[in-house]
Amino acid sequence: MTHHDVVPETEADALLARLRAFEGRPSGPSTQGRDEVNQAMIRHWVDAMGDDNPVYVDEQAARENGFPGVVAPPTMLQAWIMRGYRSQPGGSWQAPKEASGEPSAQEQLFAVLNEAGFTSVVATNCDQEYLRPVVLGDRLAVTSVIDSVSPEKHTGLGDGHFVTTRLEFTDQHGERVATMRFRILRFRPQKARAKADAPLRPRPAVTHDIAFFFEGARQGTLLIQRCAGCGLLRHPPRPACASCGSFDWDTVTASGRGTVYSFVVVHHPQVGGFDYPLPIAVVELEEGTRLVADLIDVDPAQVRIGMPVVAEMVAVDDELTIPMFRPAGARQGAA
Ligand code: ZN
Repeated sequence: MTHHDVVPETEADALLARLRAFEGRPSGPSTQGRDEVNQAMIRHWVDAMGDDNPVYVDEQAARENGFPGVVAPPTMLQAWIMRGYRSQPGGSWQAPKEASGEPSAQEQLFAVLNEAGFTSVVATNCDQEYLRPVVLGDRLAVTSVIDSVSPEKHTGLGDGHFVTTRLEFTDQHGERVATMRFRILRFRPQKARAKADAPLRPRPAVTHDIAFFFEGARQGTLLIQRCAGCGLLRHPPRPACASCGSFDWDTVTASGRGTVYSFVVVHHPQVGGFDYPLPIAVVELEEGTRLVADLIDVDPAQVRIGMPVVAEMVAVDDELTIPMFRPAGARQGAA
């Protein structure tokens, strides 16, 4: 088995039952906002967001729009109950510690998931519902409940469980002002790929217009498109001639000889499927057109403009053969 052992159904069922036992339990103790809803924090927020709605900063404008006074932007909701960066290892949205020092229900749930191998986390959804405008002077508090834990799901990141937490925001009178559902995926990280299983080069988009080029490469030839109207060579292939407008074309087999017209040596960013440093050249073919290709069997520091090169069709994997260029005269297959 390459990824992970399949958990027998009964074991998965037993785990799910343990996880589901947390549904409906408070994630942790409720949190009281550190500051009342205030103009300074709102002003910083709307400046940062570039939101110039006057109801957030102008008392008269707010009243004219039917509000009792300046209102906070609804999406600031969580700002009013954040506990401060230094006081909360693990992130502001996590449930706080119980006063007793005992692990909160959320911590216990995550411990069960960790133990079962679901050690990675990514937030996936956040839905907020606003029940009334939050105004200057409000003092919010929040309570959170573990709403649901999904059965094991297969996702692009890996297999895992979605954990949804439901939060209720209340004001200084205990009245609800907003609710929020926050969903995370706790997943089993996929094992690092072995070298033999290394990522492939990105696949080229092989359209009707360019299929001949890759088929030619597979056959060991470098084919260049030629306008049947005026004879102009063109690359990359495209449907019509830019010179005479003809849609008719055939191909010529290039000799493969050319010179480096321009080049770069790529160090970063590094994309899977390539080796770095990666010299890439614009090669001017002796037939008179140019193409972009990898340079091989060359010290990147030795590449020069005007350097003579020769094409070689390289099978980079079972499916893909592409032309690359080596210095002319370099021994084929030299390391
Ligand atoms: Zn033409």
